[in-house]
Amino acid sequence: MKTLTILGATGSVGSQALDLVARNPGRWQVEALTANSDAAGLAAAARASGAKFAAIADTAAWPALRDALAGSGIETGAGPEALCEAARRPGEIVLTAIVGAAGLPPTLAAVERGATLAIANKETLVCAGPVVNAAARKSGATLLPVDSEHNAVFQVFDHDRPERVAKIILTCSGGPFRNHSRAELANVSVADACKHPVWSMGAKISIDSATLMNKGLELIEAHQLFPVGIDKLDVIIHPQSVVHSMVEYVDGSVLAQLGSPDMRIPIAYAMAWPERIATPAARLDLAAVGKLEFYAPDLERFPCLRLAWDAMTAGGSAPCILNAANEVAVAAFIAGQVGFLDIDAIVAATLAKVPSGPVGSLDEVVAVDGAARRTATAQVMARAA
Ligand code: NAD
Ligand code: MG
Repeated sequence: MKTLTILGATGSVGSQALDLVARNPGRWQVEALTANSDAAGLAAAARASGAKFAAIADTAAWPALRDALAGSGIETGAGPEALCEAARRPGEIVLTAIVGAAGLPPTLAAVERGATLAIANKETLVCAGPVVNAAARKSGATLLPVDSEHNAVFQVFDHDRPERVAKIILTCSGGPFRNHSRAELANVSVADACKHPVWSMGAKISIDSATLMNKGLELIEAHQLFPVGIDKLDVIIHPQSVVHSMVEYVDGSVLAQLGSPDMRIPIAYAMAWPERIATPAARLDLAAVGKLEFYAPDLERFPCLRLAWDAMTAGGSAPCILNAANEVAVAAFIAGQVGFLDIDAIVAATLAKVPSGPVGSLDEVVAVDGAARRTATAQVMARAA
């Protein structure tokens, strides 16, 4: 029995993880769960999973959380520090399923005490990869990727001899607009953007999948997770989302991980690692899938992928600026303040305006993130007017 903490327990990834916990009694003892503001959802999850501690980021939701857990014996906390407290409690495995850079402080708290991290929260690695990696080296923390592409790479990567790897090829569904022209993209709605053809996910990552920024963030995530050069990273569109990613070796062999597109497979892999456990995911039926297609991404129609590639190449704080601007732009698109094509424009303008430089600490990341958010917000105002 291992102890498990889930940061972001009420979201898409968090609730699929709790589904696996419920299906495998005796495998994980839940230590702590966190959420942003959904007190009722968090309380229900804490009671159902037998958690010892429940933390809510939004302090205004604390009374509702306390009321909902009255008499349960489950401790509660609120505010950003309570999220870090959840991460510091002795969960052997910490699943980071918060969306956005808000997940960084609790993720770092778990890394610093040497926990095993199942990382879904890709924005954390994008905005502070070197800081997280340095902390992990110091504490001996283990970082296991949950993102399906990185989980696939992790499964077929030669961790002992990375010099044998010639290329990491991340697959990308292409999102709901993969055949749209720029003119058609100008008028898409939030509902259209959230209708992902293959995966059912939270709103932010669904929008990121529609702009291809998700793949850009994943390139940077791969750069932080796997010891290969930027020139060895590649992206290929694969609409069926059956091949979850590939590793090409120096001899020309290409190893891939395949499976039905169900996040419970990579979540279970990371949470049970180094074991493999049964999941309720549909078995892959290749005869039913019929054909697997692959083609190159179009960086003209989807400039977010190019912006991310450039930010990764620039290094330092550029990925943090990219990520912060994207979070602001996506939130503004979801709120109806700006259009779909404003997202890449806001990110590009923010990258052009905010100077980038080296980042070596959490405080420096927080400062750059804040500066980029202010600039991106001004861009939103200018475009919304
Ligand atoms: P979601 O929106 O469904 O859930 C997000 C969770 O984070 C919720 O529990 C929410 O309460 C919490 N949260 C949101 N804002 C917060 C804040 N400011 N402070 C503290 N907590 C906050 O998101 P999701 O789709 O589950 O994605 C979570 C992460 O996993 C993202 O980084 C995403 O990119 C990554 N990811 C998701 C999927 C997927 O299939 N959903 C796949 C791969 C990677
Ligand atoms: Mg992914």
